[in-house]
Amino acid sequence: MLESANQIIQTIEAAGGEAYIVGGAVRDMLLKREPGDYDLATSLLPEAVMHLFPVVIPTGLDHGTVTVVLDHVPFEVTTFRSESTYSDRRRPDEVTLGVSLEEDLTRRDFTINAMALKPTGLVDLFGGQADLATKVVRTVGRAEDRFDEDALRMIRAFRFMSQLEFTLDPETERAIENKKQHLSSVAVERIAIEFEKLLLGPGRKAALAAMRRTGIGHYMPHMNDVILHQLMLLPFNGVSPDDVWTLVLVAGLHPESLRAWKRSKKQEGRAKTFAPLVHEQTLSDWQRYRLSDEELDHLNQMTGYRHEGRASLPIRRLQDLTVNGRDMMDLGLRKHQIKEALHHLEQQVVHRQLDNEREILLKEVMNWKNQHGTGS
Ligand code: ATP
Ligand code: MG
Repeated sequence: MLESANQIIQTIEAAGGEAYIVGGAVRDMLLKREPGDYDLATSLLPEAVMHLFPVVIPTGLDHGTVTVVLDHVPFEVTTFRSESTYSDRRRPDEVTLGVSLEEDLTRRDFTINAMALKPTGLVDLFGGQADLATKVVRTVGRAEDRFDEDALRMIRAFRFMSQLEFTLDPETERAIENKKQHLSSVAVERIAIEFEKLLLGPGRKAALAAMRRTGIGHYMPHMNDVILHQLMLLPFNGVSPDDVWTLVLVAGLHPESLRAWKRSKKQEGRAKTFAPLVHEQTLSDWQRYRLSDEELDHLNQMTGYRHEGRASLPIRRLQDLTVNGRDMMDLGLRKHQIKEALHHLEQQVVHRQLDNEREILLKEVMNWKNQHGTGS
């Protein structure tokens, strides 16, 4: 991937432009970590970049970004840009293309993210290498101003602390204390993405402790210091992005508050399924029945408990009952009663109140019908 990135740089230089690897990839390479992706910055305008490569997707022309695909790998190539006045503290009012590399680096959030690299050398205008060496997250320029421009950067500071196991520059931390209330104006989806990364990082404990010191938790949806403290204590080993919110619920976030965090249906569903179960040393037959085989495996993996498999249950799904909806119709149940009656049988059988034998269940349905009337 680095070879392809360098090839893009050379092609742009041959066309008379400048180009660099920028941002997280430079940081990761200097830390001897494998970058997730390589972003490039160039002096050329997007149209010019599009003419230089056979496969280019115009992914963000408004922001000066095109995606060059080389050997099936996508590279975001963005024209040097500056961002002026953030009147709503959410996003720049205006993006200006065609500025210098220096200006492009100046708009970036932290010194460790504001370096540029090409085969012939590194550009480090703000002491990023020094901060990598001493493991410090520090804003580019005056911290208060940078958080005024974009309040999300405050959460990003804690995110990088956690991912890289860095400390927070004291000046940057003071600025967060002073500017924390501005977080309320940031789109919750953006906060959630950074918070997830924070919770998955190896330095989450120190990052959460720093968040508590600043009091910023109160400006995140339905969050508070008690939940942040509980999150510090929970084991996160082997937790996937889909499970992060399970742990946030276990730490005390109200399940209904997940709505406010606008998580995917999948994340919300999993969190609500698993959170009530992670502290249960034993599960009832009904609790095991309600999970899929996969979910039960996953719960065991997450908790380290060894809940018995679902194979030992009397039935594993509704279809395993020796009677079905057709039988209920034959017994004269109304459509709306059938689901209810089946659910009743399901519970009786799973709880081992009744054997899953056709004769027995048909008899139970008749009793049930008599108790519940014809329900016209
Ligand atoms: P990761 O490896 O997790 O993707 P990253 O450093 O690449 O980390 P991104 O969110 O992908 O982080 O952003 C890429 C780069 O864009 C950053 O390194 C930084 O230079 C710049 N950047 C991103 N978000 C902001 C922001 N809110 N304010 C200023 N600069 C930002
Ligand atoms: Mg990135």
